[in-house]
Amino acid sequence: MKVNEIFFSIQGEGVHIGLPTVFLRLFACDLRCRWCDTMYAVEGTDFRDMEVGEVLSRVLKYRCRRVCITGGEPLIQRKEVEEITEFLLKRDFVVVLETSGNKKPPGIFSHPNSVVSMDCKCPGSGMDSRMDFSLYDALGEKDQLKFVIADDKDYEYARDIIAEHSIRASVIFQPVYGIKADWIAERILRDGMENVRVLPQLHKMFWGEKRGV
Ligand code: SF4
Repeated sequence: MKVNEIFFSIQGEGVHIGLPTVFLRLFACDLRCRWCDTMYAVEGTDFRDMEVGEVLSRVLKYRCRRVCITGGEPLIQRKEVEEITEFLLKRDFVVVLETSGNKKPPGIFSHPNSVVSMDCKCPGSGMDSRMDFSLYDALGEKDQLKFVIADDKDYEYARDIIAEHSIRASVIFQPVYGIKADWIAERILRDGMENVRVLPQLHKMFWGEKRGV
């Protein structure tokens, strides 16, 4: 399988924000978001071909039972993601899958110790036409749906999607890194969206736009 990087840090996004996590970043993505902050895992040659067993032994070296499989788009390597997830869940790990919102996660991600962290790409990403809204029905309370917000148009798009769909997952509005974000919090309050969390990317607040954190 094509692996971009494996590292240990704190979770910078979503409902596990702040918790120590092992990150397994897989290479390749079929989308091209305008604000993508991991292009090194999307294009080029920055990956190593590794066997699943080698990946697992690297992951297990960290004394942490929370693993985030991210990318790129991990579900391009679906079979390997399933194999790794099954192995870890059997050993009582928590597994978070970060996915871009146009691929159905494997059935193993209905496991209570797993979290699907699905993106809904707003117009500012340039990828909104590639989203599959039917995937939201399968997200449970343990999962999360994340909107990255670049501007007013994105905010309104996200608000309308939430109104149009019955979403059981936690909903997160995440400002694009570097923009002023107080207006997003104020709009959420003004619009009475009492179940939406607005969260920054904590790792970037700590370390800036660096790799491996
Ligand atoms: S889906 Fe994620 S990895 Fe792929 S281009 Fe968009 S932000 Fe980058």
